[in-house]
Amino acid sequence: MSPHARSEIDLLRRSMRYRPAHVCAQCGEALYLPEFSEWLDTGSARHLWQCDACGYTFETTVQFAAA
Ligand SMILES: [Zn+2]
Repeated sequence: MSPHARSEIDLLRRSMRYRPAHVCAQCGEALYLPEFSEWLDTGSARHLWQCDACGYTFETTVQFAAA
């Protein structure tokens, strides 16, 4: 692989960074919406993600307000 092609891939990665909310850790499929979201007390939310392509599931927790 030439250095030129490599930098193009880096550029593509950077430009895609803000589009999908998450990328499947197992197969790389882009995930846009959580399967399930749960609001916790103290201004945080828990999201359950499931990959359509391989079925991999994981959770993220987002903190919205600093205590
Ligand atoms: Zn996947």
